[in-house]
Amino acid sequence: MSRPTVTVREQPPRVVVVGGGFAGVRLLRRLESLVPAGRAELVVVSPVDHLLYTSLVPQVCASSVEPRHLAVALRSVLRRTLLCLGDAVAVDLAARTVTTRTVDGSARTIAWDRLVLAPGSVTATPEVPGLAEHALGLKTLDEAVTLRDHVLAQLELADATEDPEQRSALCTFVVVGGGYTGTELAAQMAAFTRRAAAACQRVRPGDVRWVLVDHAPRLLHELAPALGRRAARVLARRGIDVHLGTSAMEISADSVVLAAGGPNVRRHTRVPTRTVVWCAGVAPSPLAAVLGLPTARGRLVTDEFFRVPSADGVFALGDVAAVPDSTHGGTPAGQTAQHAVRQGAAAARNVAASLGIGSARPYRHRDLGFVVDLGGRDAVANPLGVTLSGLPAAVVTRAYHLASLPSAANRARVATDWLLNDLFGQEITHYAAPGLAGRTIAASENTQIYDRRT
Ligand SMILES: Cc1cc2nc3c(=O)[nH]c(=O)nc-3n(C[C@H](O)[C@H](O)[C@H](O)COP(=O)(O)OP(=O)(O)OC[C@H]3O[C@@H](n4cnc5c(N)ncnc54)[C@H](O)[C@@H]3O)c2cc1C
Repeated sequence: MSRPTVTVREQPPRVVVVGGGFAGVRLLRRLESLVPAGRAELVVVSPVDHLLYTSLVPQVCASSVEPRHLAVALRSVLRRTLLCLGDAVAVDLAARTVTTRTVDGSARTIAWDRLVLAPGSVTATPEVPGLAEHALGLKTLDEAVTLRDHVLAQLELADATEDPEQRSALCTFVVVGGGYTGTELAAQMAAFTRRAAAACQRVRPGDVRWVLVDHAPRLLHELAPALGRRAARVLARRGIDVHLGTSAMEISADSVVLAAGGPNVRRHTRVPTRTVVWCAGVAPSPLAAVLGLPTARGRLVTDEFFRVPSADGVFALGDVAAVPDSTHGGTPAGQTAQHAVRQGAAAARNVAASLGIGSARPYRHRDLGFVVDLGGRDAVANPLGVTLSGLPAAVVTRAYHLASLPSAANRARVATDWLLNDLFGQEITHYAAPGLAGRTIAASENTQIYDRRT
């Protein structure tokens, strides 16, 4: 591969990484060990001071893990990387600068010799009437805490009302998207809210209803079919209404309209509810759309070395990038933490090679299986292709998450949360006064900060 030119500067070349998530942090940790201090300056641009371990976010909603215990401090895992707190909002490829917007609203321009784009993804919000205004997302810690507090508030309101119809609507919770996030959320929340309802005066656990909707014909459609079948059995046991081949057509403050059946026979049902959680897929970070670089379905196009064509010195990886997966005929790699972490390690090698240290290698991925935590002693998993469910899967799932958390302190805190929950049950309290005013997906995920004219 031809190497991008190293800009001659008085200081060592600067590598700027946009995004301190799974891909960005793995890349920087690897670069810190591959590239001797003095051979390159490392900078990360991130709107937050931590990596969010998203795989356990549904457990925050179900009070199984304290929110901060999933936030891995960037300063604790990165030894010599400078943290620039803010969002990258524009890139000048000719001048080799990135513009960031810091938390106080001011703009800052940072020069780079190598730019690594890893800003991840946001909740996909297709044109469904009412979705932007009324649905809740589940991508950030803030959204997870908001959802948990909102759900608990609905139970309190239901307990206070004497109107049975209103109580039924307040106790009905709809999750759209039967992939791993939606399935984990519905399974864990059904168990959590029934426990919470048991402490109420009027609301009974049987009043609580969770509805899981997906237009696909099976649950966990992105994973092996056996996992979907086994998860469906757990959901049925927990009394969750699963509607497959069904789409959410319209969302309002007090209901969602569902449509089932083929294109010619659509049956519409209005479900009274105050809670619709949108877990139906992700879209690449909106930053990708303002860079003027080639994209495929919104993701930045790269070669198998993570290089962005026609942009010398620019690399992209993780959810935002369509990195070819040679083990699947060169189709873009899946948007999973597993890919992001592996890509981080592989891309670090290639960024180092572009600085004259070591040699570059194409991305190769071997699928090690997937774990889906359904709460309590239920999970489904297929480590190394072996399908597991029940307690063995739950043990594998917890061990996998503890091993994957990138900091020993976070591992210890999460393990302690699980132990305390096993002894005393989950905490059933709000964090703050609950309320959804201004809590749209766009506001929570900061998707409207990018200047589309640049
Ligand atoms: C609820 C949930 C559960 C999941 N469960 C699993 C699971 O069990 N297994 C699995 O494999 N995958 C799971 N995923 C998917 C996984 O989280 C993603 O595939 C993974 O995080 C992608 O890594 P990334 O580094 O590309 O993005 P991220 O880890 O999201 O990191 C992106 C980082 O960039 C930052 N950023 C965003 N915009 C900017 C900007 N403009 N400037 C600077 N920084 C920016 C973000 O704040 C974030 O810190 C889950 C996702 C969610 C939301």
